[in-house]
Amino acid sequence: MKIKVAQDTYLVGIGVSPGIAIGAVSLLDQRPHVDKSLIETTEVEAELLRFHQALERAREQLQKIKQAVSRQKHLREHLYILDTHLLILEDEMLVDGTEQAIRAQMNAEGALLQVLGQLRALFDNIDDEYLRERRSDVDAVGERLLRILTGVSERTVGNIGQKSLVVAHNLSPAETMQMDRSNVLGFITDKGGRTSHTAILARSLDIPAVVGLESVTSMVYDRLPVIIDGSSGVVVLNPSEGTFKEYLDRKQSYEYLEKDLECYRDLSAVTTDHVSIALRGNLEIASDIVQAKKHAAQGIGLYRTEFLYLGRNEPPNEEEQYTSYCEILRQTAGEPVTIRTLDIGGDKFVPELNLEDEANPAMGLRAIRFSLHEEQLFRVQLRAILRASSCGNVRILFPMISGVSEIRACKKILEEIQEQLDCEGISYDKDLDIGIMIETPSAVLIAPMLAEEVDFFSIGTNDLIQYFLAVDRGNEHVAYLYDPLHPAILRALKATCDAANDAGIGICICGEMAGESLYSLVLVGLGLNELSMNPSCIPRVKRVLRQVSREEGELLVEKLLALSTSKEVSTVIDQEMRNRLPDIFAQPRI
Ligand code: PEP
Ligand code: MG
Repeated sequence: MKIKVAQDTYLVGIGVSPGIAIGAVSLLDQRPHVDKSLIETTEVEAELLRFHQALERAREQLQKIKQAVSRQKHLREHLYILDTHLLILEDEMLVDGTEQAIRAQMNAEGALLQVLGQLRALFDNIDDEYLRERRSDVDAVGERLLRILTGVSERTVGNIGQKSLVVAHNLSPAETMQMDRSNVLGFITDKGGRTSHTAILARSLDIPAVVGLESVTSMVYDRLPVIIDGSSGVVVLNPSEGTFKEYLDRKQSYEYLEKDLECYRDLSAVTTDHVSIALRGNLEIASDIVQAKKHAAQGIGLYRTEFLYLGRNEPPNEEEQYTSYCEILRQTAGEPVTIRTLDIGGDKFVPELNLEDEANPAMGLRAIRFSLHEEQLFRVQLRAILRASSCGNVRILFPMISGVSEIRACKKILEEIQEQLDCEGISYDKDLDIGIMIETPSAVLIAPMLAEEVDFFSIGTNDLIQYFLAVDRGNEHVAYLYDPLHPAILRALKATCDAANDAGIGICICGEMAGESLYSLVLVGLGLNELSMNPSCIPRVKRVLRQVSREEGELLVEKLLALSTSKEVSTVIDQEMRNRLPDIFAQPRI
């Protein structure tokens, strides 16, 4: 019996890959049903064997997918995801934990399910979104094993026979890679987050996608008409004729705008009064370099090195880091690559580094404080960065500096390493620029003093907003207070930009605000000459910047600084941008 779906049922999830797709559902089954049962002691050996056979079978399946994927040039750089899954199959907690549960007389699938639950709980306690999302890789491997154990055949997203919108409880990165682009118009899932590998892949493949819809699989059936908007995260089930027409129009204007944006790829971001703004890319993981190149990013304004430390028992050694940095430098051909030293602790948790629990982690031993505390680890990273600086244009960036003595301590260590390298006859860039992230209120207030110590500032608005407004950036209960347009934030940005410009040092924003094209005029008016963002945001920001002037931006900032609430600030910005660039900003927001 078909479920009844009311006309125009609107759902909102997380839009992870932009674009509008309109089509009929292809519902990808059906999670394997697992019967947890107790077994006799005499059955333990047989269950252990069954579990190991499942591991072997999963390995074979992944190797087969790897072979198929490696033949597709545009997917090759994602092969590491399948390698991660192969590594998870060897993970001690997963394998030993399941074996132990089987020995405690649980059947293999029950034992595995229990261990997957424990691993999930570990990941759920991680505040950092990117790291938390790595649990989706464990889930994908777990589901593969459960399918094998329960005899449910592998799903066939690779051979969907007709043009469809794929709806699934979850999609593994392996499945996403196998998607037949000519038939999959888009996909929506119950699970998933913005930075899951599946989301990253969807963006690479240019497939509109919305994830995290919680229970959409129980609300649809095969061939139900659906609209998905991968930019806003809106999904409309069973659209009425009016809604269908409205979205068809939106789809056309989106596609027109995208086509138009392609024309900007090789143009520079210069305002109408001839101010050049460097638009750089943020790298969360090494493969983001592909997107950065696709959108002609002028180098990398923020290379988050945390991912190098993930999913391993030991931190990466100097050689490994040196190789990774050089690889990115090789791909950016002389453009600056801003390598941020390890920014973990607090909301960014790397289980492998065995950080202690802290009562107040956001204000605890995180970022530069951790590096200065674990000086040996810090020295290894600095040596690797310095050595890599002889391969290209490296800038070094220290996170969460809250006072002058901290940056002096970093510079002292850096100088000692430079002396060592000189003694060893190892070359490095002696004029390498040193910068700091401006993320704390104290750094804003003493920005003129900090400016005397460094070559550039990079404003980390994600944290700056959290610390200025005392709002945990990961806590959904206070999310309504997390406001980039708060008058205090505008003042903090103005003070930091003024201090940098007065001192004649570089000034950049690398927090999420930089990529929001609605704020581009404000940012240029504040005096920023460099913005670093998720590479996919570059074309839109560039297009806006080419149609506005710094002078107009300065006038707008002056107006905004006289306002006392973020609501007023937001209304003025909305109006201003809609009037200036109606083709980009006139679309009603849902
Ligand atoms: C920031 O805080 O704005 C920033 C760019 O750093 P992260 O998001 O990595 O903390
Ligand atoms: Mg930060």
